[in-house]
Amino acid sequence: MTTTKQLYLLYQQHPVISTDTRKIANNSLFFALKGDKFDANVFAKQAIEAGAAYAVIDNPEYKLGDRYLLVDDVLTSLQDLARHHRRQLNIPVIGLTGTNGKTTTKELINTVLSQHFKTQATQGNLNNHIGVPLTILTIDATHELAVIEMGANHQKEIELLCSIAQPSHGLITNVGKAHLEGFGGVEGVKKAKGELYDYLGGAGSEWREPGKDQACVFINSDDDILTKMAADRGLNNIIYYGNTGASNLVSGEIVENAPLLTLRWTNNAKRESYTIKTQLTGAYNLNNILAAISIGTYFNLTTNQINNGIEGYQPKNNRSQIVQTATNTLICDYYNANPSSMVVAIENVGKIDAKRKVLILGDMFEMGQESIAEHTAVIKKAFDTPVDERIFIGKDFSAAANNIKQPITGKNSFYPTADDAISGLRANPIKNSTVLIKGSRGMALERLVELF
Ligand code: ATP
Ligand code: MG
Repeated sequence: MTTTKQLYLLYQQHPVISTDTRKIANNSLFFALKGDKFDANVFAKQAIEAGAAYAVIDNPEYKLGDRYLLVDDVLTSLQDLARHHRRQLNIPVIGLTGTNGKTTTKELINTVLSQHFKTQATQGNLNNHIGVPLTILTIDATHELAVIEMGANHQKEIELLCSIAQPSHGLITNVGKAHLEGFGGVEGVKKAKGELYDYLGGAGSEWREPGKDQACVFINSDDDILTKMAADRGLNNIIYYGNTGASNLVSGEIVENAPLLTLRWTNNAKRESYTIKTQLTGAYNLNNILAAISIGTYFNLTTNQINNGIEGYQPKNNRSQIVQTATNTLICDYYNANPSSMVVAIENVGKIDAKRKVLILGDMFEMGQESIAEHTAVIKKAFDTPVDERIFIGKDFSAAANNIKQPITGKNSFYPTADDAISGLRANPIKNSTVLIKGSRGMALERLVELF
């Protein structure tokens, strides 16, 4: 069996990892991972033929020579290799988790810090038990700092990811309702995300600043759940940002939401304030932006570097992206949806400066037993928000509609499927409006965009 130390020696000579036989990098180490429908041991020979230096396998039947490295379990080997590599890297690693806004906050932090440091960060959304080790293994001796997104949909996942990435600094964006099925309710979500605080405050954190007995945690002081979670764990190396309490490193507020955000933030030590125009919409993004500003400030970036980073950041992949059509302004937010992000997205539309406002909301997935109740709550929220038109799409929204006792005011429609909604919108096109389109990935609401 090949040990982690032996793998590490080979990795130092072949520091590129491949896992997909369709994209084998020359001279790389191929890890034959298993998926639900495939076992990549079968592809090891193909990977070697395509240029991989070695193939790491866990089925001896596929060992065809010295370049096939047999291990007990390929996934565990990949994780152990990443964990070992992290230990050799003498750099800060910022670990991020939370229910909503991880990728946006990670990108904002990385955009800011890269104005000064050579950084490495999670690509896209590669935030799971495979993505985190792969990201760690892209960090090399030239990098000065790394920003790692950690996602979870069940308990102990963040604990595992922390043991691999060994963050020296960390941030939970927020704790809300998502993946309720896997977590077992909101208390389960708190516990699972709290594993990052457990790690940073506990013996696990090997990477501390001089004179500190705990790793550093950045906390939004306006978030009661997070401040309580930190207090319950006795965390003592906390940097606060936000508007509640006296000790915030930075604070900030929205000046304009039309629908791009202009905001004003204050460096509380210097007592200086700055107004910046962002490419982001959504009042909820204020917290994501303040997180990045506070981390930039903490790592001693100049105000210009911080502001350039924030102003230059463009959201990607339909995470609250603005699209201007001939007559409508679309807030394309159909990358994902859960009860917490739905509520803040609806509230945001209520607050933005626009003449005519429309909500188009698609079903939220993975809600388990809570699903109809959560869809009912979102409908109520939408009814309580002053907008001109509301369109609900999906079978759970349609089922939940029957639970709504209050009379439906304004223009409201329920469509069981996206195809029905497309027909409805073709018959009654929306014009001269600001339109939020949000739903779970599986609803694929991008199909609606051409109708505007
Ligand atoms: P995933 O779990 O898929 O990795 P994520 O946590 O990385 O998601 P993002 O991809 O950054 O989250 O954002 C997805 C959506 O979540 C955004 O388009 C927006 O609707 C919502 N969102 C972003 N930030 C927040 C926030 N701070 N609070 C609530 N909702 C947010
Ligand atoms: Mg993400």
